[in-house]
Amino acid sequence: MPDFNKLKNILTKYNSFLLTTHVNPDADAIGSELALYEALKLMGKNEIHIINTSSTPYNLIFLDRSNVIQQYEETKHEELLRSVDLLIGLDFNRSDRLIRMREVFTNSSNYKIIIDHHQDEEDFVNDSFVDTLYSATGHIIYDFIQKTSIVELTYQIAYPLYAAIMTDTGSFRFERTSPEIHFIAADLISKGVNPTEVYDYIYNQNKFSKIKLLGNAINSFKLYGNNNQIGYMIITQEEFRSFNASEQDTDTFVNFALSVEGVKLGILFIELKDGFKVSLRSKGRIPVNKLAAEFGGGGHLNASGIRLKNESMNKFISIILQKAEDYLERE
Ligand code: 5GP
Ligand code: MN
Repeated sequence: MPDFNKLKNILTKYNSFLLTTHVNPDADAIGSELALYEALKLMGKNEIHIINTSSTPYNLIFLDRSNVIQQYEETKHEELLRSVDLLIGLDFNRSDRLIRMREVFTNSSNYKIIIDHHQDEEDFVNDSFVDTLYSATGHIIYDFIQKTSIVELTYQIAYPLYAAIMTDTGSFRFERTSPEIHFIAADLISKGVNPTEVYDYIYNQNKFSKIKLLGNAINSFKLYGNNNQIGYMIITQEEFRSFNASEQDTDTFVNFALSVEGVKLGILFIELKDGFKVSLRSKGRIPVNKLAAEFGGGGHLNASGIRLKNESMNKFISIILQKAEDYLERE
C-alpha cells in the first residue's frame, strides 16, 4: 500500500495544484482526476487545475459535469506548470505518456508526485505513490480517502471513482476483481451512483463511424504463431479517413482479438499520422508489458501498449509478431 500519510501531508501542505494524466485518457484517468479534484475542493483548496495533453473522449465528458478539465495549450498553460505548488500525475508513471506536456512537466522545478498502479515506473518525480496490486488508480484514491479520512466520501467523489474502477476492472471481470473491489463498488453505489447510467454513458454511446471502423478491424483479424495463439488486427490511416474516425475510437477493439477461442495474446496495430501504436492484451501469465518494453512501450502484465513516432507500421508488424511468439513459448 502506498504511504497514504505522506500523501496526506503533501496535499495538506500545498495550496495550488495541477492534475494531469496520460495521452488518450480512459475513465480511470479522468475519474481519478475528477475525484481528487473534488477531494481537494473539500479540503478547502481553491486553486486546482486539471490539464491534459489529450481532449476528453466524448464518452467520458459526462464525468466532467462542471467542465473543469482543460486541454493543454502551450501559450496558455506553460507558465501555470511552473507556477503551481504541486504537479500531480495520475494513472501513469512514465513521462513519455505525457506527449506534448512531457518537457514542461519534467523540467518544472516544482514539487511533483505520481499516483498510479502501472508497472515499470520511471524515476522522474519527487514522490511516487505507485502500487501495482491496485486494480485502478481510482481504487488507490478510494483507499487514500477512506484510510486517512481526509475528506468525506461524497457522491461527487464516488461517481468518478465508480467509473474508474468499473472500467479498469473490465466491468468487474479482470484478474484483480477481488471481494474487496466489490465491497468498494457497493460502498460507491450506496452513495447514490447508478451503475446502469455509468455503464450506458461509457459503453453504449458509440458513434456509427466507430462501429464501421470496428467492422473493418474485425475483418482484418488473423491468427498467428504456435497453435494460433496470437490473434491480431490492423487499422490503417486510410480507414480512419474513410470512416471519419479517430484513434480514440479504437480503445476497446483489441479485446475482440483476445475473445477468439484459443487466442492467448491479442494485438491491435493502429496506424497513426506520424507513426503507429500497438495495443497488446494477454491471458494468464503472458507478460505483454515485457513484450511492449522491447519496443519502448509498457503497461501491465495483461494489457500494455507501444507507440512509435515516425516509424512505418508495416515494417514492424512482422517483427512484433515474431517477438510475440517468444513470449508464448516462455509461458
Ligand atoms: P491501450 O492498449 O489501452 O492503449 O493501453 C493499455 C495499457 O498499456 C495502458 O494502460 C498503458 O499503461 C499502457 N501503454 C499503452 N501505450 C503505452 C506506451 O506507449 N508506453 C507505455 N509506457 N505504456 C503504454
Ligand atoms: Mn488505470
